[in-house]
Amino acid sequence: SLSEKLDGVFQKLRGKGHLTEDNVKEALREVRLVLLEADVNFKVVKDFVAAVRERAVGQEVLKSLTPAQQVIKIVRDELAMLMGEGSDNALDLAARPPVPIMLCGLQGSGKTTTCGKLALQLRREKRNPLLVPADVYRPAAIDQLKTLGRQLGIEVFDSQVGQDPVEICEAARRYGELNGFDTLILDTAGRLHIDDKLMAELERIKTSLAPREILFVADAMTGQDAVNVAQSFDERLGVTGVVLTKLDGDARGGAALSVRAVTGKPIKFVGMGEKLDALEVFHPDRMAQRILGMGDVLSLIEKAEAAIDKDTAADMEKRLRKEGFTLDSFLEQMQSIKKMGSMESILKMIPGAGKQMKQLKDMQLPDKELKKIEAIIRSMTARERRDHRILNGSRRMRIAKGSGTTVHDVNVLIKRFTEAQKMMKKMQKLGPKGMKKMMRG
Ligand code: GDP
Ligand code: MG
Repeated sequence: SLSEKLDGVFQKLRGKGHLTEDNVKEALREVRLVLLEADVNFKVVKDFVAAVRERAVGQEVLKSLTPAQQVIKIVRDELAMLMGEGSDNALDLAARPPVPIMLCGLQGSGKTTTCGKLALQLRREKRNPLLVPADVYRPAAIDQLKTLGRQLGIEVFDSQVGQDPVEICEAARRYGELNGFDTLILDTAGRLHIDDKLMAELERIKTSLAPREILFVADAMTGQDAVNVAQSFDERLGVTGVVLTKLDGDARGGAALSVRAVTGKPIKFVGMGEKLDALEVFHPDRMAQRILGMGDVLSLIEKAEAAIDKDTAADMEKRLRKEGFTLDSFLEQMQSIKKMGSMESILKMIPGAGKQMKQLKDMQLPDKELKKIEAIIRSMTARERRDHRILNGSRRMRIAKGSGTTVHDVNVLIKRFTEAQKMMKKMQKLGPKGMKKMMRG
C-alpha cells in the first residue's frame, strides 16, 4: 500500500542529516509512484518531480523531521502550490446582472447536478439565480433540472426539446432581466466524447451570452482522461475554472493536479456527493494531502515546523548576545526572512525588539537578491565575516570575482549590512520600553 511504501522510504532515509542528491532521488522515485497511482498524468508527474528535486537537494533538514519527512513536506508544499494554494478561487460575479455562469463538460460529468448545487449555494449567499436548461437533446435532461429546481424552490427557465440552445439562453437572459434574477446558471449539453458539433454550439453560447464564468465540470473518477478533455474544452472555450465532481468516491484526486497543471485554470469547487448541498470550495492543501494519502505524517510535519521556528529564534538570540551582529548573522537573517516570509519573525530574534515592529511585517526579499547576498557572503573568509572593517579594495575585488558579482554589488551589500548593524544596536540599546516609545513616534 501507499503508506507502507512511504514507510519504506522513511526507513531507508532515517538517520541521514542532510538532503543529498541520492536520498532525494530515492524518495522521489517513491513519490513518483504515489502520484502515478493517484492517477496524476505522467507528464505532469515528470515536471512536478523535477521541480521538487530542484527545491529539495541541499536543503537543510528540520531538526524534528527525518529526511524523508522533509522530502514529503516539500512535496506537499509544492503540490498545494501547484494546485493554487493562496490564490483566490472565488466565483467572479462582478458584472451587470443577470450574470451568466456557463457549465460545460462531458455527459455524466455532473453538470446538471452541479447547476443545482451552485444555485443553492448562491441563494444562500443572498443571490437570486435562474436555472437555464440549454441541454435540449434529451427530454430527460430538461426534466432533471426542473426536478432539481422544484426541490430547491429555485425557478427553472421554461425551455423545450429541439429549441436552439443559444435562443434559449438569450430568452432566459431577457426573462431574468425583467424578473429580477441576478445570476443565470446555464446547464449545457454534453456528449460521451468531445465532438466538434458540441464545441461549436458551446462557442455560440459563449459568444452570445459572454458568461462571466465558464466552469468546466470534470468527473474525478475519470482520472487521467480528464486531462485531455479539460485541455480541449479550455482551448475551444477558454474556461475560467474547474469543478471536480465525485470526490466523495475513492478517486485519489490526481485529476485535480493534472487538470490544474495542464490548463492552469483554478479548481473552484469540488462535488462531494449526489445531494444538493454537497458542493465545497476547493482546498489545495487538503487535496495535496489526499493525493499523498498521508494525513498523520503531514500533521506531524506541521507541528515540527512550529517548533523549529522557535528553536532557530532562540539560538540566534543567544548568539547575538554573545558575538554581536556579524555578516554571518546578517546572512542568516536574510535567509530566515525568505524562509518565514516576513520580517516579523526576524525581529523576534532581537532581544526585546520583537512585538513592537509589526509594521515591518510585510517586507519581502526577492529570490534573486537573496542568492546574490548568499554568494557574496559565502565568498568571504571567516575573518572577514566576523569583521567587515577589514574589507579593503582588493578583498572586495576578490569577493566579487569569487561570487560572480561586481564590486558595486559587494559595496551595496556591505552598506546594507552596516545599516542593519546600526539598527540592531539601536534596538538592543532601547530595550522593549524604548522601542514602544519609538514606534509611537
Ligand atoms: P451531466 O450529464 O454532466 O449533467 O451529469 P449529471 O449531473 O446528470 O450527473 C451524472 C451522475 O453523477 C448523476 O447520477 C449524479 O447524481 C452523479 N453526481 C454528480 N455529481 C456528483 C458528486 O459530486 N458525487 C457523486 N457521488 N455523484 C455525483
Ligand atoms: Mg445534464
